Parts: sequence; C-alpha cells; structure tokens
Amino acid sequence: MLVTGGSKGIGRAMAEAFRDAGYKVAATYRSGGVPDGVLGVTCDITDQGQVDQAFETIEAELGPVEVLVANAGVTRDTLLMRMSDDDWDTVIDTNLTGTFRVVRRAARPMMRGRFGRVILISSVVGLLGSPGQLNYASSKSALVGMARSLARELGSRNVTANVVAPGFIETDMTSVLPEETIKGYKARIPVGRLGSVDDVAQAAMFLAGEHAGYITGAVIPVDGGLGMGH
Ligand code: NDP
Repeated sequence: MLVTGGSKGIGRAMAEAFRDAGYKVAATYRSGGVPDGVLGVTCDITDQGQVDQAFETIEAELGPVEVLVANAGVTRDTLLMRMSDDDWDTVIDTNLTGTFRVVRRAARPMMRGRFGRVILISSVVGLLGSPGQLNYASSKSALVGMARSLARELGSRNVTANVVAPGFIETDMTSVLPEETIKGYKARIPVGRLGSVDDVAQAAMFLAGEHAGYITGAVIPVDGGLGMGH
C-alpha cells in the first residue's frame, strides 16, 4: 500500500497502522523521513515526473500498489479579499491536481489486477465550508466528486474509491491555529475533544480491508460529529 505525505501527521500514523497490520507499506515524503519498516520515496505530488518515478520505485520494490491513501495536502488560509492567486494555485495544485496525478498513475495497475482500494483524505471543511479557507474547502469538496466518479468508472474492476473526511485532528496543520479557534471548535464537537491521527488511520484501515469491498463512493466522517448532516 502507498500513503502520500507519510512524513508526519495523519499520513505517518497511516503508514504505521498499515505496517503494524502486516501490509507492505510505501510512503512518499518531501522533508523529514518515514517510519521504520516503511519504504520511503521522495515525491512532490505537484510534479507528475516525480509521481511516476515514485510509483516505479515502489512497484519494483514492493509490487503493485493495491491500496492508495492520497493524504498529502496543504493549507494557505486567508480571507477571500486577501487570497492571492498563489494561495489558490498552491492549494488546488497540491490537494486536488496532486491527488489526481497520483490516482491516475495508481488506477491502471489496479484495473489490471482486478483489485484496488482508493482512499482520498478530504476534510469536514470541504462539506461545511470555512471562512478563510475558500481554496482549501474547494480542493477538499472536489475530492468527493473525484472519488464518486472513480467509483463509477472502476467499480466493475473491483476497485473501490472512498473519501475520509477528518474533522479537527491534532497535527502540525492544526497546531498553528489560534487558541480561540480551537476552543470554538471544541465547543461544536459533540464528542467534546479533538481527534487523533489514529482515529483517522483506523477508518482508512477499515476501508482498505476485506470487509469493506461493498463500500464505494462513500464519505466517511471522522470528526466527532462536527459535520453531522452533511
Ligand atoms: P501535515 O501538515 O502534518 O502533513 C501534510 C503532509 O502532506 C506532509 O507529509 C507533507 O510532506 C505532505 N505534503 C504537502 N505538500 C506536498 C506535496 N506537494 N507533495 C508531497 N507531499 C506533500 O498535515 P496533516 O497530517 O494534518 O494532514 C494530512 C491530510 O489530512 C491533509 O490532506 C489534510 O488536508 C487532511 N486533513 C487534516 C486535518 C487536521 O485537522 N489535521 C483535518 C481534515 C483533513 P512534507 O512535510 O514532507 O512536505
């Protein structure tokens, strides 16, 4: 299996959880490194050449990628009136187009092998919206359309495609938020706490597993109830 952005946060937890469950795991990274027992390949998902090269290395070392967790993502938060083209382009090129690049490269061997599990990491923000995150929310809601189209295109080949939509998870991405924002979120989360990276990893593990073969095109929230009803 392959997880993109396995150097830290949710992706790193995914790599560890799949490794501990006995999967052969590859993880892409740009900086830092990957957990022990995981094949690390450098890859910037904004560059198709690097994506292709990463897949070649993984296929040579571990065989075809049957489970893909497209996790790599960035934020460039700012209010609409201040959002630059660069803020928009960086987020869309990474979160949406980058995911497309990885999915496109992963799909053919999955179809050939008549088995595949594609798991796209979206966000509750893609469904709820969020001030200051027009770029991010747009990129994340688009992943729902991507997964559902994939589900329809590849379903007959035994390839499923699902979305995991985490809520507020404690990682580097959220550690930069002001204390007030965090307090505000906590008050709105029915289970009354922020999520952990393991909460998200376990949902992906389930979708990748043998008992999830009849689940496709679904959006699985891992948000403590924050986004209920969407
Ligand atoms: P982190 O910022 O901790 O990690 C992001 C990961 O993505 C890093 O491994 C980073 O690699 C990688 N990455 C970023 N840009 C690129 C790129 N161009 N090419 C390759 N890899 C890249 O974030 P989280 O762990 O918090 O988030 C992981 C995913 O979960 C993201 O898609 C995020 O949007 C989503 N999410 C997170 C939530 C949260 O509350 N934390 C909530 C909802 C969704 P490197 O460090 O090497 O650059």
